[in-house]
Amino acid sequence: MASVRKKKTRGSVFIISAPSGAGKSTLCTGLMGSLENIRPSVSYTTRAPRHGEVNDVHYTFISEKKFRNMIGRGEFAEWAEVHGNLYGTSAKRLKSLIRAGVDILLDIDVQGADKIRTSLEDGVYIFIMPPSLKVLRSRLEKRMGHTRERPEDVARRLAKAREEMRRYNRYDYVIINDDLQTARREFESIIIAERLKSGLLDSRWVKKTIFQQEE
Ligand code: ADP
Ligand code: 5GP
Repeated sequence: MASVRKKKTRGSVFIISAPSGAGKSTLCTGLMGSLENIRPSVSYTTRAPRHGEVNDVHYTFISEKKFRNMIGRGEFAEWAEVHGNLYGTSAKRLKSLIRAGVDILLDIDVQGADKIRTSLEDGVYIFIMPPSLKVLRSRLEKRMGHTRERPEDVARRLAKAREEMRRYNRYDYVIINDDLQTARREFESIIIAERLKSGLLDSRWVKKTIFQQEE
């Protein structure tokens, strides 16, 4: 990680959107296990934790009153109401990770991605699609079996999914999460390719390290 920090001027921000149930958490967790120097930005939310979710790891779970106070103080880089709950990205958390040269995964909904696009032009926008709405329904129903979600939550998420999926072409990349191994490989490939972009290299590092024997 130290050598990465020397080479790069800053961390990259990967904005990941997907309709709920498309497999975004599964893919993001897998990616964090297989690549180094990449971290999720932990969002704030007013929704209740699901079974197995840990405060400050999956989300920072706060009351609506606290969330509204944070909005008032301008602490969010973006925030949105999703499925009746509030979600937001802390501007301070985001900035400190970018400065440290760490790549960040921002798991935000389509509205949030639209909002952050205006302030984060060099973000890399990735959309994850299920292979079909039918498959999406079955994944949501399966997940309902081990969470506190109710059938009406599934119906609400499916209705929203239709709308969100129409906006796939606003993203730089689209991954269709049918076979999980294939989707994982595609996700990793995007991150690796983006990391190799010339614009991210620190020119002082190139001069000092690659050209040093010539000078
Ligand atoms: P999201 O974070 O997008 O809401 P999850 O990662 O929670 O979605 O995935 C929803 C459900 O679908 C989970 O039960 C997960 O294990 C399952 N799932 C994810 N990807 C696949 C896949 N490629 N094939 C089959 N099941 C999958
Ligand atoms: P879930 O409740 O399933 O974890 O997330 C529901 C939706 O909220 C997902 O589409 C997820 O991307 C989105 N979300 C999570 N964190 C944020 C955030 O900080 N900002 C925005 N705009 N959306 C978020």
